[in-house]
Amino acid sequence: MNFLEERIVKDGVVKPGNVLKVDSFLNHQMDISLMDQLGDEFKRRFAGKNINKVLTIEASGIAIACSVARAFGVPLVFAKKSKSVNIDGDMYVAEVESFTHKNKNQVIVSKKYLSPDDHVLIIDDFLANGCALQGLISITESAGATVEGLGIAIEKGFQFGGRSIRNLGYHLESVAIVDSMNAETGEIVFREQ
Ligand code: 5GP
Repeated sequence: MNFLEERIVKDGVVKPGNVLKVDSFLNHQMDISLMDQLGDEFKRRFAGKNINKVLTIEASGIAIACSVARAFGVPLVFAKKSKSVNIDGDMYVAEVESFTHKNKNQVIVSKKYLSPDDHVLIIDDFLANGCALQGLISITESAGATVEGLGIAIEKGFQFGGRSIRNLGYHLESVAIVDSMNAETGEIVFREQ
């Protein structure tokens, strides 16, 4: 098991409805040294890629993405969630359905912060059905920028997001891939990588 898988087994809680709670170390209380380990891990996995910007989505992607941006020495941009329908023309917009909250948000990035010169590494904490990543891919490509890769802390491999994004030909790396989890026993099975 790698460092993240070990931490998930130690402190993660499997909830009914295919939800893995990791809010004691990843997305509510945050273990910053774990974030830095994730930053170093993505730096290693995407070594050799010409990355000049990290993109994530608020809120829980931001902490991991900070560490990744620091490891690469590049700026971090996060897509903001917006309820407003009156988005002006200075923004790239995508619609994202939240897996955990079951609502739809428009997510926006200012045109000032993404351009055709950008080579983007997209980062998020979880991958379930892939809506969040699809929204970030769409925003990057609307800007004429290049998606160099996508880095996820925890992929739920039994949901379809990972398969559909890999099938589209993107370079997707997940530090932990959960192949199955059981809310009654708490058992979590990881994919061999
Ligand atoms: P997707 O868009 O891939 O369906 O879901 C990804 C987003 O939903 C992530 O940004 C994450 O915030 C949230 N999410 C999805 N599944 C889980 C889960 O099992 N646990 C937690 N804590 N968040 C999740």
